[in-house]
Order: sequence, then C-alpha cells, then structure tokens
Amino acid sequence: MAAPTCSTKHSLLSLPTSPHAPIYHLRPDPLFPSPKSLLALSSYDAPPDLGAKGPVALREGDPVPPSMLRRSRQIRGGGAFTYTSPLPIEFPYDIREPADTERTNAATPTTIETQLAAFEASPSHPVWDAALPSSEERPARATAFSSARRDADAFPRGQLLSVSAALRDAWLPQLDIGSDGEGDKVREQFVDVASGRVVLAREPVEGNEGEGADKGFAPWSLCYAGHQFGSFAGQLGDGRAISILSTPPTPEVAAKTGFKAIELQLKGAGRTPYSRFADGLAVLRSSVREYLGAEAVAALGVPTSRALALVHLPSVHVRREQLEEAAIVTRVASSWIRIGSFEQQAYRGEYDSMSLLERYVAREVFALEEKGAPRVGEGAPARRSLMRAVVEEVARRNALTVAGWQAYGFMHGVMNTDNLAVTGDTIDYGPYAFMDIFDSAHICNHSDDGGRYSFRNQPSMMLWGIDKLGQATAELIGHEAELAERGEGGEGWVVAPDGWAGEGEATDDMKRWKERGMQEVAKVKEGFVGIFRAEYERLMRLRLGLTTAEEGDFDLFSRFLDLMATHELDFTNTHRLMSQFVSTEGSTFSAFLDALIPASAASSSSSSASPARDDWTAFLSSYETRLGLEPSDAQRTRRARMDGANPRFTLRQWVLEETIAKLSDPATRDAEGRAQLERVLDMATRPFEPYGEGEVGVRDEGETCPTREEQERRRLCAVGPVDMRGFQCSCSS
Ligand code: AMP
Ligand code: MG
Repeated sequence: MAAPTCSTKHSLLSLPTSPHAPIYHLRPDPLFPSPKSLLALSSYDAPPDLGAKGPVALREGDPVPPSMLRRSRQIRGGGAFTYTSPLPIEFPYDIREPADTERTNAATPTTIETQLAAFEASPSHPVWDAALPSSEERPARATAFSSARRDADAFPRGQLLSVSAALRDAWLPQLDIGSDGEGDKVREQFVDVASGRVVLAREPVEGNEGEGADKGFAPWSLCYAGHQFGSFAGQLGDGRAISILSTPPTPEVAAKTGFKAIELQLKGAGRTPYSRFADGLAVLRSSVREYLGAEAVAALGVPTSRALALVHLPSVHVRREQLEEAAIVTRVASSWIRIGSFEQQAYRGEYDSMSLLERYVAREVFALEEKGAPRVGEGAPARRSLMRAVVEEVARRNALTVAGWQAYGFMHGVMNTDNLAVTGDTIDYGPYAFMDIFDSAHICNHSDDGGRYSFRNQPSMMLWGIDKLGQATAELIGHEAELAERGEGGEGWVVAPDGWAGEGEATDDMKRWKERGMQEVAKVKEGFVGIFRAEYERLMRLRLGLTTAEEGDFDLFSRFLDLMATHELDFTNTHRLMSQFVSTEGSTFSAFLDALIPASAASSSSSSASPARDDWTAFLSSYETRLGLEPSDAQRTRRARMDGANPRFTLRQWVLEETIAKLSDPATRDAEGRAQLERVLDMATRPFEPYGEGEVGVRDEGETCPTREEQERRRLCAVGPVDMRGFQCSCSS
C-alpha cells in the first residue's frame, strides 16, 4: 500500500511542469529539437548499412542515432541546451556484440546504436502510472518513463542516503517524498527519479501544434562557455548535470522568493553532449560535499542553489585517481543560467540566440518586466536597454552574494565564469571551504597555484566575471541603447528586434555598439562596488551586534580581522564569542581574553602579559566604546542578535572529510556514516544553535552530564585536528 498522501502534497511524478522552464524559451540543439525527438530515440532502428559506415556521419534527413546524446560535439547554431536523459552508468560503456561474450570483440556501430537506444526513455515503458494514487487533472504533468534496459536488473539501483528537510520546507513544501518503510511507492518513485533510473517526460498532444500548444516535456542540459582561471575555454556546458523537472513554486514560496519556477537537476547523472572527455559522473565524496555545502551556505542566508537529495550508486564505479563509487545530488535553483551561457552565444556570434537568452533571463528568471519598465523622471530615461538591465541585475545579485561569502568566510574555490550563476546563487560546490584560522590569503583549491580565487580575491574575481558578461553582451547593450535614444523600440525596456545581428550587419555598427555597451558596463561595475561594500558592512555590523552605522565601523571590522590573522584565531569561533563580551567599564577584560585567546596564541610565559592580550585589549576597548554609541535597548538585545548572526557550527573540512570517510567505508556506512551525515546536515541547516557551547568565565564541566549526542555535536563544532586546518581540496570530483 502506498503511504497516504495529504491532499496538498504531490509525489515528484505528479508535480506539474512549469511554462517558465528554459526549454520553452531558448533555442534547442538542432539535433534534438523537441521532447518528442528525444523520446523517439528508444525506437531508433539502425539502418543496415550503419555498421559499414564506421563512425556515424549524419546526412540531411537521417534519423539522429542515440549515441549523439552521449558524444561530445561542438556545433554552430547549436542552441542554448540539448534534450538529454540521465544515464548514470559506468563509462566507457561496456557494449558488446550480442552473441559474443569475449570483451575483445569491438561492437559494431549498429550494435552500439541499438544498445544505446534500448536505454532511452520509452513511451512504451510508462512507470507506475496506473499504480499512482489518482490526482486531479493536471494538463502539464510529466510521466515517468523507463526503457528495456533501464528495467533490467543490471541497471544501477540508487540508495537514498539523505533528503534535506530544510530545503523541502523552504522551497518545495508541496513535495511528498514518501517514507522510509519497505514498499512505499512514493519513496520508490522518488529514489528512481533522483537516481536517474526513470525519466520524467511528456509527449506533445498529437495534432495540437498551433500557438500555445503543449510542446511536451523532457529533461535537458544547458550549453555554456566560460573563462577558466582567466582564459577563455570555449564550449563547456552541463557535462554532468541534467535538469529533470521545472515546476511552479507554491504561491507562498513564490511570494517569499520571487521565483517563477523551481528547477531540479541531477548532478552526476551521466554523459551529455557537453561532457567532453569526462564520464558525466560524480563520486560519493564530491556529492557529499555539494549536498552539505549548499545547505550550509543557505542556512547562513547567502544566496545559493540548494540540495534536495543525495543518492548513492554503489554499483557504479568511477575512474578517478582510483576507483570510487558514484553518487548523485538532486540540486535545486530557480535557474541554472550562468555568465558563461551568454559568453557561449557571443563566442559563436549568435546574437539572435543571445537575445532569446536576454529575454528569458529578464522575464522568466528576474521577472524584470513585471517589476515595471523604467519610469520617466529626473535622470531616469524612459527607455533603456533590456540587456543592460539584465547585466545590472546579475551584478547586483552577485555583489550581494560575494559580500555574504566574505562576511561568513566562505571560499568558492573555482570562480570561473561558467560557475557564476546569473541569479547570484552560489553554484557548483567543488573544492570550496569555510575559513578556519583566519587568513585572508587562503587558497582552498589545491589546483589554484597562483591564488587567483583566494579568499581576499573573491570580490574582485566576481567583478571580473561581471566584466566578462559585459563584454559578451556589449554589442546588444549598445544596440539597444541606440534604439532607445532614437525613440525606437517602444516605452520601457528596449529589446533588439529578432535577428538584429544577422548576416550582413556592418562591422562599423558592431564596433560602435560594443564601445557604447562597454560604457554602460563600466557604470554597472561602479554600482557593483558600492552594493558589495554596503552589504559587506551591513553583514559585519550584524555579526558585531551593531544596529547603527558610525564612521570608523569599517576600520573596526578590519582591525578585528587583522588581529584574528596576526594571532591565528579561528574565524567562526572568534565571531561567535564576541556576543559574550560585556563592558567592564575601564577594568581589564581578563576572563573574556582567557576565552578568546587559546593557550597557543597567548604563548608567552605569563599569559597575562602576551602581545596577543595587549592587542586584543586595545581592540576590545575600541569595541566597548563603539558599543556605547548604540541605543540602550539595542545594547540589551545584543547577545541574542549576535548569537543569531554568528554561527556556532561551521562546515569545516575535517567534518566533511570525516563524514565522507565514514560513508565511504562499507563497514561504517550504514550506521555511523548515515547518522553522522544526518547530524551534520541538521547542524549545517541550524548553525546558530548553541551546540555544547561554553560560557565565558564558566568551567567546561557543567552540573549535568551531556548526552552522547550533545558530546558529538560539541565535537563537530571544534576547530579540529591541526593537519586539517586550511586543508586544500582538489578539483578531481
Ligand atoms: P567545473 O570545473 O566542475 O565547473 O567543470 C567544468 C566543465 O567540465 C563543465 O562543463 C562541467 O560540466 C564539465 N565536467 C566536469 N566534470 C565532469 C564529468 N565528470 N563529466 C562530464 N563533464 C564534467
Ligand atoms: Mg561547473
């Protein structure tokens, strides 16, 4: 029996699809122009001469063979995405001639295509449809499809390791993921979709092809380019991320977040045309990092993509430095468009495609048009380039995000422009880290030799990314700005007409537009600096318990950080302790200093006369004076406010590594490993709770004996072993 479902909840399978999904607004890969073209692959019939032709060469009118879904390819006019289905199986694929059991015999092209076709989601293999509790008619609902080979026992079965209740409550309260018990259908469905075993799709309604007709639905991967470590890297794309569903937010979530759609994506679900040389898979280690990292950043109030589920695929072996097991994160965001998405269109010179992207981001992601066109008034032009408005919004959002990173000690590690979301969400959790002992020059990515993405470089690297977005779109901005000045293009946002930079456009025009566009971009960049600084100061005031803004606050923050660096103090714990500072009106801060400065930093023989104590005493006097300028009611609420702004728990490298180790070892995985994963997730999503926290001037051992769980949580808040401090992670994931 399926678990009873509450009427307002829907299984993943019965969630409606959103008309705001990018597939309905952007240009598809011409090889797979529609959901139908993807679903047709399962019935691909290899022509008899395919085996003789060698590698597949497509001719006009040929049906596209299934292998094109898994082959890296670069095509002009290749659109902004391709329809593709999850296929989390080992790579290189093990395809043999049917009659032959020897590995040595290479499969013919015909066999390869036929066997790949048998994996593809097939309308003749609907899953659970009949078994599902009937839900009210929802026209835009996907069906779950399986296929001949997906149904086979050999196809990898996923094991659900964890679900983030925090994310579900915040963004997907309508989602029913069933319960743990044996035979819960809703849970089974969820795991099968989240492990890439079944595919959510919908065929278009036959004969209904006019304006506004249902185009069907199928999963997709985005195409993008990007600057990696400063150099342009050409076409990249979702090489191992496949968006499986875009669904409308509930009215409450829409009101709270401003989202028009919520897009679920599987990371590590197999090859796509953008995989290049890689396997499209993700290892357990990196999936645990992404899963926990996203939820930890969200809990700090910093914009980020979120993680819904972590599914382990123990039978899928992944070749990295050594063989590892695969895992998939179901991650969630309002959009996965990156700065590199625009760069891709610019690099191909496909301005009409770029213009579609511009409109999509403006209308469907930012809802700019609904927020109102620019108003006529002092200084505000009645007409403005829509592309400029998009760049400005991307800059604003990312300025807020990087301010959050700096204030909370988060290091992204790989701020390439393909990893910078237009939404300002923190995305692509790879070698990220949270600051331990404060060091502004810290580099968390082992592969970043030059420290390009070191902690202190993050704001300027974000601005560098905005500049790249500006350069990619400058012609479009300039063109629209000219149209606006000439009074063309109507009131409000000015959008370049379709095909504006088509063939034969004079290069002189392009040069002029570019120059004009870059002038606009320069203004946006100035705005970025102001927004970043204001947000950073706002957050640091929160962290230090200040409710008013005073001259000299910024210097106070800098001194605080400098002292932490000089005396090698922990970033998280030092901030957290500041709430317990109380004014002693002229006398020494002895008890507070004892708590603030660990024995190692106060290393001189007499702990009451160390340079650290002198430095901190001077700082605390200034802080005390500054607190005196606060209104008296604010002084009374300071501790509670600060404890709500300074996390007790931070997701340190040692915690991640230990959790990963316990989950990786089959001996500890099921009990200890999963228990620790749940505990760490819980602490990461509620980081301000006072887990086993001590009080200044009070001895550690309290009256009551802490439970094991309390001891464990306290342990997970510790700075951790010396050799794990500032641990650098590699990119191999
Ligand atoms: P990243 O450095 O993780 O942002 O990845 C850069 C590019 O490489 C993106 O296009 C990714 O989709 C792609 N990529 C990274 N790892 C893999 C993988 N294991 N399989 C396929 N593509 C990958
Ligand atoms: Mg990436």
